[in-house]
Amino acid sequence: MRFEDQTVFITGAGSGLGRAAAERFGAEGATVVAADVDADAAGETVDRLADAGVRATAHELDVRDAEEFAAAIEATVETHGLDVVLNNAGIVHDRVAVESIDDDVYEQVVGVNVTGVWNGTRAAIPYLKEQGSGAIVNTASLAGVIGAPKLSAYSLSKGAVVNFTRAVAAEVGPHGVRVNAVCPGVTDTPMPREGMTDEEWAAVRDQMAEQYPLRRLGRPEDVANAMCFLASDEADWITGEALVVDGGFSCA
Ligand code: NAD
Repeated sequence: MRFEDQTVFITGAGSGLGRAAAERFGAEGATVVAADVDADAAGETVDRLADAGVRATAHELDVRDAEEFAAAIEATVETHGLDVVLNNAGIVHDRVAVESIDDDVYEQVVGVNVTGVWNGTRAAIPYLKEQGSGAIVNTASLAGVIGAPKLSAYSLSKGAVVNFTRAVAAEVGPHGVRVNAVCPGVTDTPMPREGMTDEEWAAVRDQMAEQYPLRRLGRPEDVANAMCFLASDEADWITGEALVVDGGFSCA
């Protein structure tokens, strides 16, 4: 039980990777604060955790709102303490040529993926520094380390997360706080299958899997395991790392 007596604050915990992480950290003994802009989805995650005997609370939070984020972190510190923050909430956009992406779409993607991570980090760091311990794990993407054609705004946002992770890691390391990122390849969550029927998704998934040396897409647990590792004491000398979790996609 790597997270016994620890509290993990997870954004985007109502779905996909955030929910998988909530379940993984919960299984490792953590108290989980499941935050999501979709309050019902966060509540569903908490119900699942409660059924598994995990102490968990739901928090409605739009990560773009700095004040809301600061209040959520403060409430968590007061109620449970705070050991780990997963800045995981994120959105993607349709594949569109760079010159044709709407400004609105660009603003939304940067707002959630970049400003969300910025807000979460700035809210949590003062507590973690004062405590002299803690870990932040940011969900970037393979698109943050290699460019994804027609996903340019998304790639921009995730590249920013990777280098922000390094900058903050270097800054807060002397205070005993570690900051890392995970960079998943395509993982089977609601995000990549948006707008597709089950049959369409199955065909796309199988086709994409052929491009992965391990011949499958990621499972949410694959990424949750990496998040757990980076947040745990086993990664005590790892900070500023952007851990690629991609079934070998980027090595070919
Ligand atoms: P998902 O769509 O299943 O879940 C994202 C969650 O974030 C949802 O519950 C959503 O309500 C929440 N969210 C969206 N905007 C929010 C906001 N403003 N404030 C708070 N919560 C918000 O997607 P996922 O696949 O689980 O993605 C999680 C993270 O992983 C994202 O940062 C995504 O970019 C990244 N990622 C996903 C993949 C993939 O293939 N699934 C690959 C690489 C990186």
